[in-house]
Amino acid sequence: MNADYDLLVIGAGPAGYVAGIRAAQLGLKAGVIEKDKPGGVCLNMGCIPSKALIHQAELFRSLPALEALGVKADVSGFNYEKVFSASRKAADRLSKGVDYLLKKNKVDLIPGKAVLEGPGRVRLEEGRELKGKNVLIATGSAPRELTGFAFDEERILSSGGALMLKELPASICILGGGAIGVEFAHIMNGFGVEVHLVEMLERLLPGMDEEAVDVLASSFKKRGIRTYLSTRALSWQPASAGKKSAKLSVLLEGPKGEQRLEADKLLVVTGRVPNTADIGLEKAGIATERGFIPVGEYYQTRVPGIFAAGDVLDTPMLAHAASREAEIAVEFMAGGKPPGKLDPMGIPAAVYCEPQIAGFGYSERQAREAGLKFRKAVFPYRGAGKAVAVQSVEGLVKILSDESTGELLGATVAGSEATEIIHELLLARSSELLATDLAATVHAHPTFSEAVSEAARLVEGRAIHI
Ligand code: FAD
Repeated sequence: MNADYDLLVIGAGPAGYVAGIRAAQLGLKAGVIEKDKPGGVCLNMGCIPSKALIHQAELFRSLPALEALGVKADVSGFNYEKVFSASRKAADRLSKGVDYLLKKNKVDLIPGKAVLEGPGRVRLEEGRELKGKNVLIATGSAPRELTGFAFDEERILSSGGALMLKELPASICILGGGAIGVEFAHIMNGFGVEVHLVEMLERLLPGMDEEAVDVLASSFKKRGIRTYLSTRALSWQPASAGKKSAKLSVLLEGPKGEQRLEADKLLVVTGRVPNTADIGLEKAGIATERGFIPVGEYYQTRVPGIFAAGDVLDTPMLAHAASREAEIAVEFMAGGKPPGKLDPMGIPAAVYCEPQIAGFGYSERQAREAGLKFRKAVFPYRGAGKAVAVQSVEGLVKILSDESTGELLGATVAGSEATEIIHELLLARSSELLATDLAATVHAHPTFSEAVSEAARLVEGRAIHI
């Protein structure tokens, strides 16, 4: 085949643009096709704008701390549209940054919507056909619609709709207590919106360590976020039939039976679906499983020359997982020494609330269910001088290590800077270090990281500040 490219990528999200750049670094001629903006959901409608909103909500939330010092804060001029604009500015800047990086690496950014025509053949909506020796599918995912709660982005919002709000509602009901749901609860509550957070399972952040999640749950309670666990939303209707009421009435079914609650907006963040329905997979001979593309350990599909990475796979829907999967796929297709495989236990999950939560590997429940024999060490933030000095004592560091070998099986941090601190523990695991090594490392005082060193010392029964 006379190919236009060594690698053609469909989608310029964290999987696609990273694949393009890595391919160029390895001497491959790469083209990345994107129907929207470079950077994908993550930079444009996900990770980045949400973190920009979180940062500003946290600034707003810190006003009482200033008032405690005698500062009189006048919030009458507060304009949420400025908050929104700042979030769009961050997203646009990073999207342009991806554009720049692709150019710098001589990767062609090809605008347009693409479909597979067959192995190595991709057709753009405008009609042009491109040929690639290899093709990487990195088309990402979209918000999942819940039956009976179709998105209109006016009253029933998806995560994208919530990020694009220019005005705050007085109240919001959030369906879904996963990472996206709790982050929106944190944002909205931070700006003074009445928040109702509904989760079908018995805990928020299913899959994350329960002791750590309890820290968040109790903080949410203190802040007045109303959480409904083991509760399903059945339906909604306008709050006052016949009246021009903008409010919604949502029917919930929980442990105590049915109840109604009223809110101005309903945000549905109960999951995401892979974008695999209309990209020509059948023409290329690829069948999906529950919508996801099945792949081998180097992200190769069952059709030679076609790879897939990111949210289209049944792996954690996280930007850093997407990028690493794409890199491994590209390194494999470039030939030479096979790249290292991605250890699913080494993919961190991070939730950016106050307190933050970050973890990897087994949670305590998962370790128990897997029948592992492990040692658990939990060091509370309040034992760390820094946490007391900056009045941020809510939190803990938890380490699970194998009872006989000492191997780190998992770790979770809840509290300030958890999403940064976790990486010390993660590096320890990926470098096959033990709690002894962490404990032997001198940590600067006062830091939150001292809680990591103390948790590691606790594994050995020699923590000092507890
Ligand atoms: P995407 O980012 O979805 O990119 C796919 C790209 O492909 C898109 O740009 C799309 O336009 C393009 N495309 C699709 N079909 C075609 C086609 N036919 N032709 C051409 N182009 C096409 N993850 C984290 O790790 N940390 C976070 O803090 C975080 N926060 C999030 C907050 C929110 C509100 C949301 C919604 C998600 C968040 N995520 C977070 C998840 C993260 O955004 C995704 O895991 C990540 O974007 C997946 O990357 P991807 O490259 O697989 O797909």
